[in-house]
Amino acid sequence: MDDCQFKVSRVALVGSGAVGASYAFALLNQGITSELVIIDRNFQKAEGDAMDLNHGLPFSPLSKIWAGDYEDCGEADIVVITAGAGQAPGETRMDLINKNSRIFKDIIASVMNSGFKGIFVIATNPVDVLTYVTWKYSGLPASRVIGSGTILDTARLRFLLGQEFDVDSRNVHAYIMGEHGDTELPVWSNANIAGLSLMEYKAQHNNPTDERLEEIFVQVRDAAYHIIERKGATYYGIAMGLARLTKAILNNENSVFSVSALLDSEYGLDDVYIGVPAIINRDGIREVLKLNLSDTEQEKLHHSATVLKKAIASLDL
Ligand code: NAD
Repeated sequence: MDDCQFKVSRVALVGSGAVGASYAFALLNQGITSELVIIDRNFQKAEGDAMDLNHGLPFSPLSKIWAGDYEDCGEADIVVITAGAGQAPGETRMDLINKNSRIFKDIIASVMNSGFKGIFVIATNPVDVLTYVTWKYSGLPASRVIGSGTILDTARLRFLLGQEFDVDSRNVHAYIMGEHGDTELPVWSNANIAGLSLMEYKAQHNNPTDERLEEIFVQVRDAAYHIIERKGATYYGIAMGLARLTKAILNNENSVFSVSALLDSEYGLDDVYIGVPAIINRDGIREVLKLNLSDTEQEKLHHSATVLKKAIASLDL
């Protein structure tokens, strides 16, 4: 009999703030892992969340949740990092680079000292840069260091397109690629509704116009600013995206998500973590999908990569 059948899955969450706690709740609700250990600089917050979440165990298939320490990462399949500062109103994600990269140096060292051999999933911003930082500091193969990338932006795009066409957003296939931030881009050339290309749909319906598509993209790109203005932070959407990604890894799904992946000549780029559609399974990133981009999309992706490379170069790695 296959030994793997009896392996207890463990997720270690580092950072139990708004994003981390919402992610923990999503894991519990959906019964995605057997064990969840919560680590936070503020131990009381981790402990309070663990106590609170434990009271949901009778309604969930999870078996164990506790507030722990980095030693607990040694047995973890996935370490998810949501620790660090978030954007204040008016701040860009890139503004967080110095604060959060300093925090990451210590976190990654502590995780690796535990003997961790699993997969990192990073959500802290600026996520593409911090995923690169994690890859460098951990020494793990790039396939086992995944950033949440444009998972959330892609979900926002699919939601808005679903509303626009009055079609279930799960039947809308469209990606946001590039930086999770101001230089991201919509890949209209490959967007489709259940196989019917967006361009063909536009031709058939005389709608949506290019101006309307641009409006939708701007809504996606600037969504975080609008939510932060209203409630100080965004967390439910990304928490659901992280939970979905965790499930795809643990269940060896070979599902496609627009994660932040290290490029190695794909799209004519290398040595940069950036949002691209990729196949995800139990080994992490199996393959980056090479979409046939339009010239404008290719240019925008390169611009986004240039901004990210500049940000990475500003750090002393
Ligand atoms: P938050 O302030 O609510 O939570 C951050 C948590 O990290 C706190 O509990 C804090 O105690 C903990 N922390 C800070 N330094 C730590 C350290 N050195 N070790 C352990 N824990 C530490 O912030 P939030 O709203 O949960 O956001 C967290 C991060 O997620 C931010 O960087 C934010 O920009 C990012 N975010 C990313 C996405 C995405 O799509 N990738 C979406 C939303 C938010």
